[in-house]
Amino acid sequence: MARMSVQDLLRKLPGVDALLQMEPLQEALTRHPRKLLLESIRHVLEAKRKSILGQEESLHEADLEPPRLVQLILDRLRQISGHTLRPVVNASGIVIHTNLGRSLLPEEAVERLKILCCSYNNLEYDLEKGRRGSRYVHAEAILCELTGAEAALVVNNNAGAVFLVLNTLAAGKEVIVSRGQLVEIGGSFRIPDVMRSSGAILREVGCTNRTHPRDYESAINEATALLMKVHTSNYRIIGFSSEVPLEEMVALGRKHGLLVVEDLGSGSFLNFAPFGLQGEPTVQETVRGGADIVTFSGDKLLGGPQAGVILGKKELIGRCKKNPMTRALRVDKMTLAALEATLRLYRDERLAMERIPTLRMITTPLPVLEERAHRLASLIGEADTRKALQIKVQSSSSQVGGGSLPAQNLPTYVVAVRSHRMSTRKIELFLRNNTPPIIGRIESDLFLMDVRTLQPNELPILQQAFKDILSKFKED
Ligand SMILES: *Cc1c(COP(=O)(O)O)cnc(C)c1O
Repeated sequence: MARMSVQDLLRKLPGVDALLQMEPLQEALTRHPRKLLLESIRHVLEAKRKSILGQEESLHEADLEPPRLVQLILDRLRQISGHTLRPVVNASGIVIHTNLGRSLLPEEAVERLKILCCSYNNLEYDLEKGRRGSRYVHAEAILCELTGAEAALVVNNNAGAVFLVLNTLAAGKEVIVSRGQLVEIGGSFRIPDVMRSSGAILREVGCTNRTHPRDYESAINEATALLMKVHTSNYRIIGFSSEVPLEEMVALGRKHGLLVVEDLGSGSFLNFAPFGLQGEPTVQETVRGGADIVTFSGDKLLGGPQAGVILGKKELIGRCKKNPMTRALRVDKMTLAALEATLRLYRDERLAMERIPTLRMITTPLPVLEERAHRLASLIGEADTRKALQIKVQSSSSQVGGGSLPAQNLPTYVVAVRSHRMSTRKIELFLRNNTPPIIGRIESDLFLMDVRTLQPNELPILQQAFKDILSKFKED
């Protein structure tokens, strides 16, 4: 363009007060605090000033016209006044997606949260005795009922559970653990680091791929506090490998008078073998197998809220409860309410499968997924009136995620989309910036949406998002 001078451009930029008087911004003031609007105006003006002073090639005079600035100000206002934690549509096919909030709560748990959080409750009040009680009794009864454990304690998460158990039972002493089980659990958190921070001294035994009973046995000495087994939930060593089964560790522990602790990671209450998923020991089996302490997460395969569950002998759980760190790791009434409501569903296995979203998604039959994929494909097809998209249904595989059942892919159907009008990367970006954001994945230059993790009411959201993308095509 025939460029105006920097001075002229700067002069063209309206002032804060002039902008504030504009109709759309006056209207925005009825819905937003003045402070946020002013901050948005200043932000946009400052950005434009920078572009002018930097003599940016991409800057056009029209960008400095008030209507264009007003649009940017409203965008900024929306951005800074919105919630940062928002719902997203999970089309990734990873059921327990830690980055997307892990498990969806069953409606029964949400109902219970509503009831208990809008009302005073007996969180720490013993209604029979009329005096102070313990918050830990609430989930404990149902946990013991379902698992056969003597006692239970619920803390903030499973990392907290492992920490508390070792800090209580092994601080300053040795914990014998297999090298093959020193796992990183994501976000660069490593189980051995959590274990060490408890004050326990790790005695690593065996090799990465193989550990034998004699490896544990020869490491036992008078400083040994316990034998620890960590369920290698997010990876699997295949080929020439062996782990010592829990039963043998228990026998070894008994022989030497040592406790055996198992960190199960996921903590499944149901046997998933009938659904083609092998190798996830259930919590009940582990308790029956004789582990003195078992720990697991509340929001992985259990399908409840974030929590760490510790099950075990009454005397040991009692010691954990007395540890001052229990206070630092303690759970809120919301966690206890949601956990208890989720656990109650497990009294009837069929009900649990139906009502707990994590279980429902993992066990959805393939024909149901196929039908859902075709429905989604035709909804997107309806939005694509000008045939700018290539849309097809193809088979693929989902993952349980959350470090559960690694290397076990669940057969599924995905809707695959690409366009000659827009790169697949751009489609991904556009959907990720949708309201609500839609998270899928790119494979072989196709944008894939796995229907396993889509909720029934989300299909129209995807259709609308594609309508919006397609209207972009018309502009260019
Ligand atoms: C996931 C996991 C943990 C951590 O559980 P959080 O509830 O995320 O704290 C610990 N141990 C194992 C084996 C795990 O898989």
